[in-house]
Amino acid sequence: MSSSKCPKCGEKIKKDWKGCPNCGYIKETKNEALVCSNCKAEIEEDWIRCPMCTKFFEIKCPKCDYDLESNWRACPKCGELIKK
Ligand SMILES: [Zn+2]
Ligand SMILES: [Zn+2]
Ligand SMILES: [Zn+2]
Repeated sequence: MSSSKCPKCGEKIKKDWKGCPNCGYIKETKNEALVCSNCKAEIEEDWIRCPMCTKFFEIKCPKCDYDLESNWRACPKCGELIKK
């Protein structure tokens, strides 16, 4: 738990503040921790499978939002290559 500093002016910003009152800088909101929908274990964004319960995560094509199988390397709909 550390209070962060404004990257613009160095003013201390409390954790629950949305930005700097001094210069108007707005904090970037961090993504909430990802959890497995099955076992609630913490997971990484680029994981395709839960190491705890072995559930495969749903992956969507970044281009067309098509639901992809976890072992696909490219989207069959739009041809987008899936980065792992
Ligand atoms: Zn500031
Ligand atoms: Zn899991
Ligand atoms: Zn696609």
